[in-house]
Amino acid sequence: MDYREIPAIFVADAAGLDFLNSIATPVDEPVDWISDGAGLLAWSEQAGLVPRAALADIRTQSTAAELDRVAEQARELREWFRGFVQKRKGRALSAKNLRELEPLNRLLARDEQHREIVAGASDAATVFELSHQRRWRSAESLLMPIAEAMAKLVCDEDFTYVKACEGPKCTLLFADHTRGHARRWCSMALCGNRAKVAAHRKRIKEQEAG
Ligand SMILES: [Zn+2]
Repeated sequence: MDYREIPAIFVADAAGLDFLNSIATPVDEPVDWISDGAGLLAWSEQAGLVPRAALADIRTQSTAAELDRVAEQARELREWFRGFVQKRKGRALSAKNLRELEPLNRLLARDEQHREIVAGASDAATVFELSHQRRWRSAESLLMPIAEAMAKLVCDEDFTYVKACEGPKCTLLFADHTRGHARRWCSMALCGNRAKVAAHRKRIKEQEAG
């Protein structure tokens, strides 16, 4: 199914997991929102990871082949990180896991960020604030906010509550930030209702049989 026909899914409550969910099966067929360079640009925009102006610059300064190549790198990165998350979710990370994260550290080392004084919000107590700025030099820069989102997941998120949706055919991952950590579904609309309907049908069948 063509990713252009359907909006990307952002239900994970953590950008690093939303990235893993950039391939999913919302209806019957799998959809990969970053299956090409144009898709990676569109997904990055929907995810709010890259400023509009930077996206416009990258779009005009890169060839379609360059963008496709970066999308391919992004997909490789995604599937590598999926392996890590699938293996480690459900319990707290340990310092011993650092070695496994080396590929991510190598990517982070390529980032070009600097600090800049900018005007603060008008209602703030101070006039200026110190912001983080990123240089968007080439199409490859698109990987940097993704790397940052994955690193934040590893550093800030309690992996005990990183979960996979319980929908039988669902591949979506999320961070359960609910009180009591009782979240089971990617979303009620996608899988929660499907499960409810299935349980209801089963009950009716059992009643008919009994
Ligand atoms: Zn689901």
